[in-house]
Amino acid sequence: MLKLGSHVSMGGNDMFLASVEEAVRYDANTFMVYTGAPQNTFRKPIERLNIDAALNRMQEAGIVPADLVVHAPYIMNLANPDPEKRDFAIRFLTDEVIRTAAMHVTQIVLHPGSAVGGDRLQAVTWIAEGLNEVIRRTPDQTVRIALETMAGKGNEIGKTFEELAAIIALVDDQRRVSVCFDTCHTHDAGYDIKDDFDGVIAAFDRIVGKDRISVFHVNDSKNVRGAAKDRHENLGFGFLGFDSLMKVILHPAFTHVPKILETPYVEGQPPYAAEIKMIKDGRFDPDMKDKIGQEKP
Ligand code: FE
Ligand code: FE
Ligand code: ZN
Repeated sequence: MLKLGSHVSMGGNDMFLASVEEAVRYDANTFMVYTGAPQNTFRKPIERLNIDAALNRMQEAGIVPADLVVHAPYIMNLANPDPEKRDFAIRFLTDEVIRTAAMHVTQIVLHPGSAVGGDRLQAVTWIAEGLNEVIRRTPDQTVRIALETMAGKGNEIGKTFEELAAIIALVDDQRRVSVCFDTCHTHDAGYDIKDDFDGVIAAFDRIVGKDRISVFHVNDSKNVRGAAKDRHENLGFGFLGFDSLMKVILHPAFTHVPKILETPYVEGQPPYAAEIKMIKDGRFDPDMKDKIGQEKP
């Protein structure tokens, strides 16, 4: 069965329960959440995440917590040259792993980090050291840290499969790391997702191993291949196109892997119900954005 959902928010007093309700409204059977604002590291205590109510609602809706994904905030950087900031990132990611486990979620997506100053090898080493420390501090957890493939904006680490492989090779307990494969990012990084997804996956398999992929971020891109820009577009409206993205979504090697949409809102409205419908129908609707605009309350 296709495991399909989107990024949803967690807010108000309902918190995690609100995320489940949002996913149900989109007719999704999985979803991804940040445990707070993605741009900051302020987090509510675990007791206030409303986890039990969310788990009950998921059971009613047929959503399995093991298919869900947490995303770490994107401002944290395990490769920060300042040792105090690296230490903060380690402590914060440790807490995020504990929160993820408390939510019964089994993976947390992490942007590997940024090579501030440009020394990419040093950054790879610091990222692996940070991951090792987080894993050591959470020995009783099975949560996997899913390193995301990045577009290569600025000094982002994880633009190439080789770089992800280099990090993973330095991790002591490799059962605790996996990869989040983002279609927009890999396209922007230069890989030919549009016309040769099988070839890209063959390369990924040689370099990293395709069984490492634990989640896909399915996004179209506003930019040409290799632009290193990281600007997501709604499915079928960008340079990847609907048919190429459907090939990723339906690829027989990844049926068990959750597919998460992180496409932009249309006129302030979430596009996910409409995009999930297009995927289930297997048909692109060129009027999708106009319809969302008209439905605007
Ligand atoms: Fe991400
Ligand atoms: Fe992503
Ligand atoms: Zn992105």
